Amino acid sequence: MKTAFTAKKLFTPLEEILQPLLVVEEGRITETSSLAGKAMGASTRVVDFGDAILVPGFFDIHIHGGAGVDLMREPTSEVPRLGRFLASHGVTGYFPTTVAAPLDKTYAALGRLADAIEAAQKTAISNDDPVQARPLGIHLEGPFLSHKRRGVHPPENLVQPTVKVFEDLWAAARGYIRMMTIAPELPGAMEVIAEAARRGVCVSIGHSDAEISTAKNAVAAGARHATHTFNAMRPLDHRDPGIIGEVLSDDSITADLIADGIHVAAPVVKLFLQAKGPERAVLITDAMSATGMPDGKYQLGPIEVDVKDGKCTSNGSLAGSVLTMDRAVRNVTQFSSWGLRSAVRAATLNPANAVRMSQDLGTLTAGRRADFTVLSPAGEVMKTIVGGQGF
Ligand SMILES: [Zn+2]
Repeated sequence: MKTAFTAKKLFTPLEEILQPLLVVEEGRITETSSLAGKAMGASTRVVDFGDAILVPGFFDIHIHGGAGVDLMREPTSEVPRLGRFLASHGVTGYFPTTVAAPLDKTYAALGRLADAIEAAQKTAISNDDPVQARPLGIHLEGPFLSHKRRGVHPPENLVQPTVKVFEDLWAAARGYIRMMTIAPELPGAMEVIAEAARRGVCVSIGHSDAEISTAKNAVAAGARHATHTFNAMRPLDHRDPGIIGEVLSDDSITADLIADGIHVAAPVVKLFLQAKGPERAVLITDAMSATGMPDGKYQLGPIEVDVKDGKCTSNGSLAGSVLTMDRAVRNVTQFSSWGLRSAVRAATLNPANAVRMSQDLGTLTAGRRADFTVLSPAGEVMKTIVGGQGF
């Protein structure tokens, strides 16, 4: 059956359409156009969202958990609980992200996450089921990180990059690794970057103390993204720009940022958005299990984290966030001169482009999955639709 959704506006997000018509069939978008002058066939169900804005479902490529679920520790059966929480914040797809843990624990976690991805692929969704964001691929954050810029990743769990270890991680994840954060200055890193890029992984430089020349070599070897820009990176110095100099000035790469106003101060969020532009800036949450939960003690993989007033710390270092993607989008409109459409783009099309999944998601155009979010004019999530279901 065909369903036609209408609202006040729609952001594809490359375009804004007033009085839009979004036609969905069999879980896919078949048409995006203006409602003006269109006659709907009798067999088409029409759903009108009034003065709302339709935008693609948010896509979070860096998230460790939420709603009390830690993605490295919990059994696969708990993952849908996180999916429901994420959907309530407008997210329709995400990359479960690992932290540096002992390798045997990491292999086991990767196997469970692969199970969760396959379970989500197999689940047929009906309009009566609670809507869930789907895990779409794994982001490997660690173990190939710099000791100096490890943040809270435990030093004993950091590993020197070798193609052998990467292949073992790949096998444990049954090929579902779609993204990897790596410090390019580590011995052996360039070979691993090249091998991962060859397998289609979005190689992201981060947790790194690299000089600018090393960061450039990483890009030449196949890296094309940067992880939580400014956090866990050699600081920018105007005479010794380091990795951040490369991340902000290279127009061939995308980069992401935690726009909670805690990890990066608001004026620097603005600076980042101006440097990367609406085409290449990506929003992530880096959220942990405490997201959506009261203050207290929580786990981030093997790391115990204290959460107080929206700040997550472990031994005084920032440890993940309790940010949600809808808030990140609204923060961007407050921290910068960007309007809601550009902010939405940084949470939808841009991450989809960064990880080369935009043929399937990230825009509200014909052929893409019918994963979308219904926002109020102020950017609050009113409803989330996954696979054309959940209205
Ligand atoms: Zn992280």
